[in-house]
Amino acid sequence: MAIKGYCLCRTVQYELDGEVGDAVRCYCRSCQCVTGSAFATVAMADANRFRITAGEEALSSFESSPGKRRHFCTSCGSAIYTMLDTDQATYRMRVGGLEDSGSVNVTKHIFVAEKVSWYEINDDLPQFDGWP
Ligand SMILES: [Zn+2]
Ligand SMILES: [Zn+2]
Repeated sequence: MAIKGYCLCRTVQYELDGEVGDAVRCYCRSCQCVTGSAFATVAMADANRFRITAGEEALSSFESSPGKRRHFCTSCGSAIYTMLDTDQATYRMRVGGLEDSGSVNVTKHIFVAEKVSWYEINDDLPQFDGWP
């Protein structure tokens, strides 16, 4: 079974095999800017589970910190995934574009030191000021 996903304008389409699984919420300043909100929810997917099925030519990337590239749709701006130059076998997916994200399992909060004051974390999951 594959879960389909797409950007807002549906130019970029992708598929993930299996369930989404563990995810983190990242409160860093970059994720605030890219989402326009308080955090990004990010799940890891091995490259053999994730594939772009349409619109690959519309993807562009921005190197938000050295060696970390944020891939997005150049037509609508949706964040699709981030990839590290040092780990090109792992897609760090922005799970909001998945049609069925019911299998997302948030396990921790990261970069809480940069969290906005107007959003409160109301669960008992582990919190980290930066990387876990
Ligand atoms: Zn798009
Ligand atoms: Zn972040």
